[in-house]
Amino acid sequence: MQSADVIVVGGGIFGSAVGYGLRREGLNVVILDEGDNVLRAARGNFGLVWTQSKGVGVHRYHEWSCESAALFPDFAADLLEYSEIDVAYRGGGGVELLLGEEELEGRKQFIANMQKQAAGSPFDCEIIDRQELQKFAPDLTLGDELAGASFSPHDGDVNPLLLLRALHTAFDRRGGRYLTNHRVESIDHHGSGFTVHTAQGDITAAKIVLAAGHGAPRLGPMVGLNVPIRPQRGQVLITERARPLLPIPMGSIRQTNEGTIQLGNSKEEVDYDDGTTLDVTRAIASRAVRCFPQLAGVRLVRTWGCIRVLTPDMAAIYDESTSCPGAYVVTSHSGVTLAAINAAHVARWIAHGEMQPGFEQFSAQRFDVQAAA
Ligand SMILES: Cc1cc2nc3c(=O)[nH]c(=O)nc-3n(C[C@H](O)[C@H](O)[C@H](O)COP(=O)(O)OP(=O)(O)OC[C@H]3O[C@@H](n4cnc5c(N)ncnc54)[C@H](O)[C@@H]3O)c2cc1C
Repeated sequence: MQSADVIVVGGGIFGSAVGYGLRREGLNVVILDEGDNVLRAARGNFGLVWTQSKGVGVHRYHEWSCESAALFPDFAADLLEYSEIDVAYRGGGGVELLLGEEELEGRKQFIANMQKQAAGSPFDCEIIDRQELQKFAPDLTLGDELAGASFSPHDGDVNPLLLLRALHTAFDRRGGRYLTNHRVESIDHHGSGFTVHTAQGDITAAKIVLAAGHGAPRLGPMVGLNVPIRPQRGQVLITERARPLLPIPMGSIRQTNEGTIQLGNSKEEVDYDDGTTLDVTRAIASRAVRCFPQLAGVRLVRTWGCIRVLTPDMAAIYDESTSCPGAYVVTSHSGVTLAAINAAHVARWIAHGEMQPGFEQFSAQRFDVQAAA
């Protein structure tokens, strides 16, 4: 039987970042990942390192996202050193485009509410007008309906597939074990830790981390953990390559490091259906052209649907089991944004019990309290 200090279940962006961080802390780590036939949000997302819309109702989560964004330059440099893969991280700010007065007023109200919720601590996001927005897209004509945008200096983006590959490569080169096609069927808790059962054999470890995305709700109860997540589909479109047009990410429109323009992304309640539909594709493309009419001349080459991993309040869940100490769950939407902090603070929490201020707010027990209330 194989053994390790920590078993991480799930090799998506959450499990890979936490597993990499645990390996950096010197632990013997094995990541077990299911095959290509399951839902994997890490392989179909938009690639934003995004803060400006995060943390409604949970200000600590907004701060947490900003802290992760601040760690990203060093994180990307570390991955470059150990994997030789440049993840194309681009920081310095991002905008959400606002079409029409209604969206503009709605965003102003949103910012006011977030500032109120922040109660004196910073919420760095401001409305910019068309003139200022034009500076971020100097070679594009702004659509007549564009009323402005909201700008946050903390936002940025990354190539999410390169990020995942860099994490896997750096983890491997630093001596971690990543085992694909290892679906965890069940988990036993015993005196010296945990044994997981897979079709390829059993593995034991003192600690186990559930980072299995939509696979986690089935596994959680085996180690006394509640994982209340739900699916939501996002469709994403990709154009052919274009010359550099968008120097910063714009929420639902961003130019990748390869020159393609990525458009998205819808929010659809369709259970686990990760298909694509013409009506949503058309709506996404049409919105992009209303923002920047010249985009009508760029051809679409690909579209996909992918299922988000959403908690009830959209903030992260980081929890240790009380009935099976040493079993953890880590999950959230925004796994790209949180990759840097997951590899740093979250790994140190699991490895050494070090908790950042306010970290207890991310326990899933907050939902028990809300349900009781
Ligand atoms: C359309 C869309 C756009 C998005 N855009 C962004 C964005 O711009 N920025 C951002 O920060 N986030 C974004 N996200 C969210 C981000 O992709 C997710 O937060 C992230 O991928 C979740 O990572 P994960 O590792 O928890 O889950 P996943 O990526 O789904 O990984 C879970 C892994 O667990 C494995 N697994 C499941 N069950 C088992 C089992 N029993 N045994 C072994 N392995 C198992 C699966 O094989 C899978 O590899 C987006 C998501 C979507 C869908």
